[in-house]
Amino acid sequence: MRLLRIVSLFVLTIPLPAAVLHCGKLIDVEKLSVIEQVSIVVKGSEILRVAEGYITPEAGEETIDLKSHTCMPGLMDMHVHLAFESNPKTYEEDFRLNPADYAFRSAVYARRTLLAGFTTVRDLGTWYGVSISLKQAIGQGLADGPRIFNAGQALATTGGHADFTSGVRADLMGDPGPKEGVVNGVEDAKKAVRQRYKEGSDLIKITATGGVLSVAKSGQNPQFTEEEIRAVVETAKDYDFHVAAHAHGAEGIKRAMRAGIHSIEHGTLMDDEAIALFKKHGTWWVPTISAGKFSAEKAEIPGYYPEVIRPKALAIGSKSQETFRRAYKEGVKIAFGTDLRSMSPRQQRKRVRLHERSRHARARDDPLRHAFDGPIAGNRGIGRDHRGGQGGRHRGNSKRPAREHRDDAACIVRHEERPNLQASLRTKRPMDEQDPPVGRCGRAKCSPK
Ligand SMILES: [Zn+2]
Repeated sequence: MRLLRIVSLFVLTIPLPAAVLHCGKLIDVEKLSVIEQVSIVVKGSEILRVAEGYITPEAGEETIDLKSHTCMPGLMDMHVHLAFESNPKTYEEDFRLNPADYAFRSAVYARRTLLAGFTTVRDLGTWYGVSISLKQAIGQGLADGPRIFNAGQALATTGGHADFTSGVRADLMGDPGPKEGVVNGVEDAKKAVRQRYKEGSDLIKITATGGVLSVAKSGQNPQFTEEEIRAVVETAKDYDFHVAAHAHGAEGIKRAMRAGIHSIEHGTLMDDEAIALFKKHGTWWVPTISAGKFSAEKAEIPGYYPEVIRPKALAIGSKSQETFRRAYKEGVKIAFGTDLRSMSPRQQRKRVRLHERSRHARARDDPLRHAFDGPIAGNRGIGRDHRGGQGGRHRGNSKRPAREHRDDAACIVRHEERPNLQASLRTKRPMDEQDPPVGRCGRAKCSPK
């Protein structure tokens, strides 16, 4: 939509002393309105105040002219993979690239993601702990990127969607276990969750059904028992972890919700019973429509995917839009997520527009609501506290007082290479608080109001 195109460019830090941004318009996501002629005073990475009109800067303060632009909160994507980029060589690269190769690439992808307008993401599956290290690097100011909530290694059962030894030569297949994210049974499930905690994850991702891009036959069969999922969820509670479940097929979707997971990723083939469970349990749905469309399109290109993947991508990828229409109408709680394996900022923005257009077309009411209710509400529901986003490897536990889970931040960020498009608000909202969208935010952590 037009407003989103106007300014969604992002910057990392505003140098000291304070700077005054003159924004032609500012989107107030709380009131879902657009305010004209607004000044935002920032210092370092803190917003000091937001004022009506174009205020005169004090001595020594820099003025950043954004009068021809609209300032807006940073977008949030509840489903990305910052360590990967989709390309026709992806499967071959698994055998050639070292962890350091993925790490260098992820720094580029993180920066692109930020510059495309996303200031907070959930990384739902990484290799070699790349995204966990990336988060550390961003938190320490060594790399540019969004705030990251990490699942670390996604969990699978043997041969399941996140068992990355599927489809490889017998002597390379091995027999991965909980340490590598492969679980079979309740005890394995508990150990795998604890292993993710040890490695510095912020949440847990399971692959409750087959998936499109794994080298395996089914893209939708259930791959965890309900008992196994329940063991994951129960153990995750001890570590204050949310659990996200990749699931395409209806049976796996339903098992995951009955076992208490927090979000269903994709949910492509959900049936009426699954929709009822979404509503009953208040489970979030992250539809990843853009990924479905992307994989269906690429499947038409000979050689882009291994042959075993093509039919799955064609059959499942194309269904996401239709499912979205039904679930949206039924009132399923939806959070924005793309399942991007990093793309250029231009491609990313295209996907955002695609997604938002599809939502708006279904609803035909307030475009601002549809631009922001997913990203913001999604983060309230399935994001975690601010310290989970960036900073410490071990971010505390569930004993922390509830008020500290508030994330009040609205940060101004800046990208030095785009001096004319310098600002956006970076907002991360708490799970269920209703504070004004302006507060203090440090680079590595935010201070509760
Ligand atoms: Zn994914």
